[in-house]
Amino acid sequence: MTFEAGVSCALLERRTERSSLTRAFTVHARTLEQLDTRGMADELVASGTPVAELRLFACAALDLSRLPSRFPYVLVTPQYETERVLEERARRVGADIRYGSVVTGFTQHPDAVEVNVRQDGHPDRVLRAGWVVGADGIHSMVRQALGMPFPGKAVVRSVMLAEVRLTQPPPDALTLNSTGDTFAIIAPFGDGFYRVIAWHRHNQPPDDAPLSLDEVGEVSRQALGTDYGMHDPRWMSRFHSEERQVPRYRDGRVLLVGDAAHVHSPAGGQGMNTGIQDAANLAWKLAATVQGWAPPGLLDTYQAERHPVGRQVLRTSDALLRMLTAPPPLVAARNVLALAATRIPFLASRMAAAISEVGICYPAPHGAHPLVGKRVADLPVAGGRRLYQTLRGGRFLLAASPGVLQADAASGYGDRVEVASVARASGTVALIRPDAYIAWAASGDTATAPQIRGTLAHWCGSPAHPAAQTADS
Ligand SMILES: Cc1cc2nc3c(=O)[nH]c(=O)nc-3n(C[C@H](O)[C@H](O)[C@H](O)COP(=O)(O)OP(=O)(O)OC[C@H]3O[C@@H](n4cnc5c(N)ncnc54)[C@H](O)[C@@H]3O)c2cc1C
Repeated sequence: MTFEAGVSCALLERRTERSSLTRAFTVHARTLEQLDTRGMADELVASGTPVAELRLFACAALDLSRLPSRFPYVLVTPQYETERVLEERARRVGADIRYGSVVTGFTQHPDAVEVNVRQDGHPDRVLRAGWVVGADGIHSMVRQALGMPFPGKAVVRSVMLAEVRLTQPPPDALTLNSTGDTFAIIAPFGDGFYRVIAWHRHNQPPDDAPLSLDEVGEVSRQALGTDYGMHDPRWMSRFHSEERQVPRYRDGRVLLVGDAAHVHSPAGGQGMNTGIQDAANLAWKLAATVQGWAPPGLLDTYQAERHPVGRQVLRTSDALLRMLTAPPPLVAARNVLALAATRIPFLASRMAAAISEVGICYPAPHGAHPLVGKRVADLPVAGGRRLYQTLRGGRFLLAASPGVLQADAASGYGDRVEVASVARASGTVALIRPDAYIAWAASGDTATAPQIRGTLAHWCGSPAHPAAQTADS
């Protein structure tokens, strides 16, 4: 069983089949870009509704249509569609997906991890793996087995969730308002049902208290002025949200991604997006480590790069939640602030970059070229392709304007590095990582062949790696 990078990979899932429930319903531009670099974005976009203007409070609306992205919008689509697209691709490239497999514990050894797996109530079996990635959600048993603290606090209680039909659906794909004592959000699933999220400051029973459609409808009417004719609920529940983050994303041969590593309220719709981007950051580094060419310290850049992003996402979602639940005396001031922030171009573009996550960048070494650590744009490359299409093989890209790079610039690295000519004359040579961030850049006038070879050795290991010779020949 081999994954695309040539790495054997098993996914253990305690559910017996793919979930048909949905929590997340927004997929942001940067997540779509990262899915595009593996050829999954167009299929996912076809499953949902692009929303280019995010309505916030009162008349404030955030314009996403100017995002510098092929996806200048937020895609509204149920989480099970995102999971379907990811699962189908994982299967295509050879991942071994085992439903009905409950991880009950593991033991770390210097060269491997032994994972205890229970299937169909049979006694535990032991699976031996080089590495374990805990992607097992907020109650992560992997995190608990590591004894990793998960500090934080509950931030909002008794939020109502319902999946309903509507007699008079709202005109916008994403409908949101808050009044000080209430908020409500409505989004379509695309199958005739709508997700309703509603909250009332003065009605906060515990999560397991019964929930009626009348209650959801009443709070929606208070927040939105109408309940759009809610009827036929297929599922209803209450939940509370917490804000927590582990101090370390790695312990020996075990790594944490997604909700296992960080959780926050759904305000801003960032949780699943951040988890997918954690995985995009980690996957190629782990593959490089397993394949044996990872330079020293590469795997630890996962913590250095993604932990600060997780911390920032907690702050952003906290700020959005505070705005959403601002008490009545602050509502007028909040509405004015939101209106100003969405109308002042500089602030509006910063907000759009934060929410869409296209603004994420990673730390660069002192004195590095200003592009280092930044997201690379989806530029046209020679041969009529886009840069993100060129990344679909999961390799680095050494890119420059036509004629700048020597034909043998990346010789010996054929398995890890593709050389491409960017169709636009930018005068810059750049090494682009498999996750579409810029590892290194220099002006084409000053970049020397030894400098490029040194950069390749720093990021991509030794050219003498056996797989490279096969791929080059
Ligand atoms: C109401 C609501 C709305 C939200 N809306 C958005 C949104 O619009 N956009 C967004 O980005 N995020 C949103 N989120 C957050 C998002 O749903 C989560 O961040 C996301 O699901 C986390 O994905 P994950 O894979 O890390 O964890 P999960 O989705 O929780 O998946 C973990 C998986 O691990 C399995 N598992 C657990 N323990 C074991 C075990 N011991 N052995 C084997 N398998 C195990 C579980 O069965 C599960 O399938 C929302 C959350 C809520 C509650």
